[in-house]
Order: sequence, then C-alpha cells, then structure tokens
Amino acid sequence: MIDNALNRLRDKRPAFEPGHVWLAGAGPGSMEMLTIGVLAAVMEADIIVYDALVDPDLLDYARPDAERVYMGKRGGQPSASQDEINRRIVELARRNLRVLRLKGGDPFIFARGGEEAVALHKAGVPFRVLSGVTAAIGAAASTVTPITMRGVNNALVLMTGHDKDGVTELDYAALARLDQPIVIYMGLTYLAEIAARLRKGGMDRAMPVAVVQNATRPNERILISTLEEVAEKVKSEGLRSPALVYIGRVVPVGEKLREMAAEFA
Ligand code: SAH
Repeated sequence: MIDNALNRLRDKRPAFEPGHVWLAGAGPGSMEMLTIGVLAAVMEADIIVYDALVDPDLLDYARPDAERVYMGKRGGQPSASQDEINRRIVELARRNLRVLRLKGGDPFIFARGGEEAVALHKAGVPFRVLSGVTAAIGAAASTVTPITMRGVNNALVLMTGHDKDGVTELDYAALARLDQPIVIYMGLTYLAEIAARLRKGGMDRAMPVAVVQNATRPNERILISTLEEVAEKVKSEGLRSPALVYIGRVVPVGEKLREMAAEFA
C-alpha cells in the first residue's frame, strides 16, 4: 500500500532529476511527522546531506548505494560553515547527482534554507523545496497545545532566541503588547534575558510558559512555569537543547487538554 502511495506521488510531482538539489525537512523527530514526499525523496536520492537534528534512522530508507554526508551545526562542536555547505551542495549537483539536503523540521524556518536556495540559484543549480513539520507545530500536537484557540489568541509569533550577534534584538515591548503566544526556537541560552525584556515591556510576570525538550521523540519532556521563574527552573531541572519555549495563554489550555487526552490513553 505504501508503495502504491509513493508511486502515485511520483506520477504527480516533478521527477528528482540528476543534477538537482531538493531542500527538504524531516520534521521534528517522530517518523509519524515525516511527509510522504520527503520519504520518497530519501528513497531516490544519490546523496543525502543531513544536519544535526535529523534522526539517522531515517537514512535506513536511502538506497544502499546512496552516500550519506553529515553536515550540521551543533553549538560548541566544530562544524561546517554555511559557505562550505553551500559550496558542497553546488559541487555535488554539478557532479550530476540527485542531492537531498535534509534538515530537521522545515527547511525554511530557522534553517538557512533560504540562504542555500540563493546559493543554488546563483550557481545555476535547479532546486525544489519540500516542506517538513516544523518543531513548533509538531510539539503542539505531541503536547496537545493548540497553536490557536478561539477566544484565546488570533495570531502566533515564531522567533529565534539568538542570531550570530547574541540575543535576538526585537521590540519586546511590542511583543508584550501584542498579547499573542510566542514560540521561541533556540531559546534556552538567552531565556533569562528574553524573559526580563518581555517583563520590562509590560508582560505579566505570571504569564504561563512551557518548555518542550525533544518534542515528538520518545524522550520528550515538558516543563510548565511562568515568565518570572522559567529561566531558573530550566537550569534547576537541567533542560537542554533541542527545546522550544512557548509563552502565552494557550499553555494552560494545553495542560487541560493533555489531561483529557490522557483519559483515553
Ligand atoms: N528547521 C527547524 C528548526 C531548526 S533551529 C524546524 O523547522 O523545526 C533548531 C531549533 O529548533 C532547536 O534549538 C529547537 O529550538 C528547535 N527544535 C527542533 N527540533 C526540536 C524538537 N524535536 N524538540 C524541541 N525543539 C526542537
């Protein structure tokens, strides 16, 4: 049946041609959140260039003769620069290979997919983008926390906790005033600083916060706290990356829904 679905898909989308690069997202970790499009691409690629957040088990579905190249960035460890990655995928495409550039989550959310697309275009290499479930959406399902809830919120902010120069420079008073949930990617390093800026901007110190580590994976962990206490609690409980920080009034909605879902488990 799955073969049938994969064949039907291949009839309906452009062929993965030699010399092309597909920039794809593998989702947040669970195989359940892998799209059939990305699975098909994994099975067809001549070479897979994958990053730190991709579950290596997924590479078992690659052709036995496919090459697998780890090119990721992990804080604190020597890793390839973005320029090296850009050069490498261009060079592989020029060797007439089907190149799958595989990233955790979605390739266009905090993943440098845009930069890689620009580099490929500049080099004249044809590319496509295959979406993946981004961590914030995957974690919404696994923690039963709606991203939007009528009567609670009408919008959502996705932000990164830092860029190459340090804590993300944003108008935190505007974010506080907006009063819509915020999901922070890469948010642990500067969590105390971000919480302090939001409080200074007028956000309630009791605003609920959830931190979700290893979302959708068997070792998923969730910590519930408040804007005032979360940074301290993350430290004392030893939470680590990869983790997402949810700030807002959808957090207690999630707590209730988790209890309800547990009744059926
Ligand atoms: N492109 C990815 C994001 C990469 S940035 C996506 O769309 O999901 C890396 C950050 O993503 C991590 O620091 C963490 O904040 C978040 N992240 C990725 N996978 C995660 C997971 N399984 N659980 C919690 N956070 C995750």
